[in-house]
Amino acid sequence: MILVLGGTAEARELAYRVPVLTSLAGRIREPDLPVGDVRVGGFGGVSGLVAWLQEHRPRAVVDATHPFAAQMSAHAVEACSAVGVPLLRLQRPGWVEGPGDRWRRVPSLEAAAEAVGDRTVLLTTGRQAVQPFLGLSRVVLRAIERPDGIPDSWVCVLGRPPWSLEDELSQIAEHGIEALVTKDSGGPAAPKLEAARELGLEVIVVDRPPVLADVVVTTVEAAREWTLRFEDPG
Ligand code: NAP
Repeated sequence: MILVLGGTAEARELAYRVPVLTSLAGRIREPDLPVGDVRVGGFGGVSGLVAWLQEHRPRAVVDATHPFAAQMSAHAVEACSAVGVPLLRLQRPGWVEGPGDRWRRVPSLEAAAEAVGDRTVLLTTGRQAVQPFLGLSRVVLRAIERPDGIPDSWVCVLGRPPWSLEDELSQIAEHGIEALVTKDSGGPAAPKLEAARELGLEVIVVDRPPVLADVVVTTVEAAREWTLRFEDPG
């Protein structure tokens, strides 16, 4: 069995192309489930993951979690090394600023909150990343589910991506957005970045945490090829 640490479109696509067991954190109530076998919930830290790997003996692990799921990725590096299971990191390339973009790259969510200043901001960093922004009052938060404990002044736009360019333009206009905050999630060209370019809006881009794994690929196809080495010979 090959274990895929999931929660991304890439993980779902890999599961569609190779027989794997996908692991999901279980944060979203109605997740878009991948095909094939699925397990849900944390492993219980590095020691829990080590125990899980020893019990289930996967031939290899593909860490296809989101670029900002830094804790899970760090645990995977440590646990796979301890148990001697080959590990691949599948991570899509980050976004690159193009002509007409007005981006400010920042190293952290805290730095992003500081960079917003006194402006009305569209926050697209996800409901689990709201903490550093709680001191801001003019926030339009886009999330799949409304987080607890956000200020009353915040507007929540609920929904699941992808958002179309029309959605982005109309949300920016409707709420008088003056800046946009995004993680450098990467992947296909994002309509929110296109909308910001069209309107001359500043985009505050939070840089990714560093990759810790030794073997890294950026495409599902490269990950699929890597897994072929670990196919069951029988
Ligand atoms: P994280 O901070 O790196 O991980 C926190 C803990 O959640 C981990 O220590 C682990 O718990 C559990 N966990 C995370 N991913 C898991 C997985 N695939 N299978 C089993 N347990 C998992 O992760 P996160 O940023 O909260 O992200 C959670 C999930 O959402 C990830 O699978 C990620 O791919 C997906 N996601 C994240 C983002 C984002 O911006 N961070 C965006 C889109 C999707 P234990 O220590 O108990 O094992």
